[in-house]
Amino acid sequence: MQYFVNVILPIALEKLFTYALTEAEALFLKPGMRVAVPFGKSKIYTGLVHEVHQTPPTVYEAKEIHQILDEKPLVNEIQLKHWQWIADYYMCTIGEVFRSALPSAFLLESETLILKNKNATVDEGDLKDDEFLVYEALLHQSVLKVHEVSAIVDRKNVLPILNRLLDKGIIHLKEEIYEQYKPKLVRYVQLGAAYREEAQLEELLNSLTRAPKQSQVVLSLFQLQATTKKQIKVADLEEASGGSKAVIKSLIEKGILEEYHIQTDRVNYDGSDDESVFKNLNEHQQAALKDIVQNFDNKKVTLLHGVTSSGKTEVYVQLIDECLRSGKQALYLLPEIALTTQLISRLQEYFGEKISVYHSKYTVQERVEVWNNIVAKKHKAQLVIGARSSLFLPFSELGFIIVDEEHEGSFKQFDPAPRYHARDAAIVLGNLHGANIVLGSATPSVETYKNAQLGKYGYANITRRFGDVLMPEIELVDIKEEARKRRMKGHFSERLLEEITAALDLGEQIILFQNRRGYAPILECTTCGHSPQCPNCDVSLTYHQYKKQLRCHYCSHHMALPESCQVCGSPTLDTKGFGTEQVEKEIEALFPAAKVWRMDLDTTRGKHGYEKIITAFEQQEMDILVGTQMLTKGLDFRNVGLVGIMNADSLLNFPDYRAHERCFQLLTQVSGRAGRTKKRGKVIVQTYNPYHQILKQVSTNDYKGMFKEQLYEREQYKYPPANKIIKITFKHKEYNRLNEASEWFAQALRNALGGNVLGPEYPPVARIRNQYLKHVIVKIDHGTSLHRIKFGIRRIEKSFNAVALYRSVRVIYNVDHI
Ligand code: ADP
Ligand code: ZN
Ligand code: ZN
Repeated sequence: MQYFVNVILPIALEKLFTYALTEAEALFLKPGMRVAVPFGKSKIYTGLVHEVHQTPPTVYEAKEIHQILDEKPLVNEIQLKHWQWIADYYMCTIGEVFRSALPSAFLLESETLILKNKNATVDEGDLKDDEFLVYEALLHQSVLKVHEVSAIVDRKNVLPILNRLLDKGIIHLKEEIYEQYKPKLVRYVQLGAAYREEAQLEELLNSLTRAPKQSQVVLSLFQLQATTKKQIKVADLEEASGGSKAVIKSLIEKGILEEYHIQTDRVNYDGSDDESVFKNLNEHQQAALKDIVQNFDNKKVTLLHGVTSSGKTEVYVQLIDECLRSGKQALYLLPEIALTTQLISRLQEYFGEKISVYHSKYTVQERVEVWNNIVAKKHKAQLVIGARSSLFLPFSELGFIIVDEEHEGSFKQFDPAPRYHARDAAIVLGNLHGANIVLGSATPSVETYKNAQLGKYGYANITRRFGDVLMPEIELVDIKEEARKRRMKGHFSERLLEEITAALDLGEQIILFQNRRGYAPILECTTCGHSPQCPNCDVSLTYHQYKKQLRCHYCSHHMALPESCQVCGSPTLDTKGFGTEQVEKEIEALFPAAKVWRMDLDTTRGKHGYEKIITAFEQQEMDILVGTQMLTKGLDFRNVGLVGIMNADSLLNFPDYRAHERCFQLLTQVSGRAGRTKKRGKVIVQTYNPYHQILKQVSTNDYKGMFKEQLYEREQYKYPPANKIIKITFKHKEYNRLNEASEWFAQALRNALGGNVLGPEYPPVARIRNQYLKHVIVKIDHGTSLHRIKFGIRRIEKSFNAVALYRSVRVIYNVDHI
C-alpha cells in the first residue's frame, strides 16, 4: 500500500503538491500539521498537510517528505475551509493565504533568509532606492530569500545592498529558522536548600554581618516570601532589596540563594476580571442590546449603528461577557490604528487576563505565543483583540465576533495577496463557527447599511451620546469669502481663531485636522510655473520644512530644498497647498503660549510614538494637537472642546467613487472627538464649498441623506454595492509594453464579458518607483455569477501569459476593491 499527502506550500502555486509517506507517517499525520518538504532542486519549504490519501500523482513522481514538524495540528479544519474561501473569493492561491496567515516563525525554510530587525527604527528617507525596496518587501513578507531580493531590485549581485542594510541594523540574516521561536524564561530565586530552617537562617544572617548588602538581600527575600505567597522573581528581589545584580549573583554562586526558571509568555495582561466593574447600560444601550440579541436568535449578522460616544463599547462588553460565559472564544476586530492601549486597558478592566492582543506591531515571538495559547485553548486567550490578521488565528469555538469601525477602508488588505476585506472574511469565518456577529460604526459603510435595509443584516441603533451629551455643533466657514475680505491669517479663518482663543481660555483642548503631512504638497516657481517632480514616480515632491527637504511620499526619494528654480533659475519658489507641518508652525506663531504637538506619519514612526502622543494628549500635557486621519479612530478624549477642520475640500476632490462617503465618515469621526463629556463640543469646518451637499450632511448629522444620495449615484454608475467590481492592475517598467499588454487583456475581457469593462486607464499617480501602472475595472451586474466571471478572467490570464512579451507584466487582482 502506498501513502501520499497533499501539501499546501507557502507560495503562489495553483495546485497542492503531493509527497510520498511511509505507513507510520500516514497514520500519524493529520490535516493542519506542518511538514518540511523538498521543492525544486534544492529548496526546503514548510508545507501544511491538507489531506492524506493513496492516489499517486499522475504527472510527476512524488518525493518523500523531509520531516514532520508538529505533534498536533497547528491549523484546524475550519481554518482550512476559511482559507480556501479567501483564496477562491479574492483570486489568490491558498498557499498565499497560508503564508500570510501564519506567524513567520512557523514557516521555516532552508537557504539564507533575510529578516527584518524588529527593533530597528528606520528612517525611510535615509535608505537608497534599492535598500528601500528590500525594506518595503520585508514589511509585507517578514522573510526574504536571496533570489527574491534579486528579483525585487532587479539585479544579480545583491550582496552590497544586503551588506549596507546589515550595517544600518535593518536586517538579520539566518541560515534557517528552525528555532526562531524561543520560549521566554523568567528567573526566580529562593533560599538555598541548606538555609530554609529558621535556625540555619539566623546563623547565616549572623555570618553575613560584615556583608550588609548581602544580608539585606537575604532579609528582603525572606520578607517577600512571608508577605506574598507567590514565587519571587529575581527582578522583584532586586527592586525590593535595592541590591545589585552582582550581589545577587554572588549569593547564588555561594549557594545561599538558588535560581530557577519558569517559562512565561512575553505579554501578560492581568486585571481584575471582576463583574462588579461592569457599567449599567442606559435605556438606549439596553434597547440596542435587546435588538442585537433578538437578531442573534434569528442567526443574523447585526449592524450596531451608534453615534460617536454613544457607548457602543459598553454594549460589546455585555455581548463578550455572554459569549465567554458560554465557554466560547470571542474576537474583537479593529483597524490597526484604533488598537490603542486606551481601548485595551478599558477592556482589561472587565476581562482581566482573558485578553490576548494580536497585531502587526507585535514581534514574531509574541504572535507565536498568542497562536499557541489559542490552540491550547488557554484561559488567557478567550478574548482576542486584534487587527485584520487575527482572523487567521486557530480559533476552534468562536462564539462572537465584533468588527468595530466596520466602515474603515483599512480593513481591506491592499498588498500583498490575499487582498481580503477583513469585515467580509470575518462574516464568513463567523458562519463557519456558527458565531454571532456584530458590525459596529457611527458611520456605517454604504454596503453594510444597505444590507441592513434589505433585512439581510439585523439593525440596532443608538442615536444619543452617552449621558445625553449633545452632538457637537458643526459650523461651516467659507474661506473663499474670508479670503476675499482679507480675514485669513495664514490658513486660519477669523471664526476658527476666535473659537481657538475661547477654548484655550476655558482650558479646553483642541484638535486641528489636516489630511496631509509635510509642510506643503507642492513647491512651485511663480515665474515659470515649474514644480519639482519625483524622478521615480509621477508626483510632485512634498516640501518638508523641518528637514529642509523635498520628499516623495510614494518612494524614498528626497533632495535638499533648492534655492532657486531648477528650470528658469529664478529664486521665486513658492508653496501651494499645505500640510500638518505648516498648520503646526502657524498655530505656534499665533498662540505662542499654547503647547502644540503634531501627530502624523512623520512623528509616530517608532513603536511607541503613536501611544506616547495619545497618552500625552489624554493627560493634558498639550493644548493643541495637529494631525492627519490618525486622529479619527475611536479615541475617547475627555477634554476636547473644539475640533477644527483646516480644509475639507481636499477630501471631496479624490477621484474615487467612494470619496464622498469617505469624506462624510472622516469628518463625522473627527468631529466626534469633540465634547464627549457634559459640555457640547464645537467643530469648525473650513471650506471653499460651504454649499457642498456632503458638508451639509456632515453638519446636520444626516447619515441617511448621505446614504440615499450615494446609493443612487452608485446605482447610476454601477459601483458597489449596486455592482461588484474587480480591479485588475498591470505593472511594468516599460511604458509601451504595459500599454500594449493591458490593452490586449482589456480587449479579451470585453470580448468575453461585453460592456462592463472599464479601462485600461492610468491611476492619478501612474508611475511609482519606476513602475508604470494601469488599471482595468470589471463591473459585475447583480445576478451574474461571480464565480463564472473569475473563471473567465483566469482563462484570459493563461493566454496572456502564453505571449512571451507579456509574461513579465505583473497582473494583480483586487476583488471588491475599495
Ligand atoms: P463609542 O464607542 O460609541 O464612541 P464609548 O463606548 O467610547 O462610545 O463611550 C463613550 C464614553 O461614555 C466612554 O467614556 C464610556 O466610558 C462612557 N460610557 C458609555 N456607556 C456608559 C455606561 N453605561 N455607564 C457609564 N459610562 C458609560
Ligand atoms: Zn522657474
Ligand atoms: Zn517617488
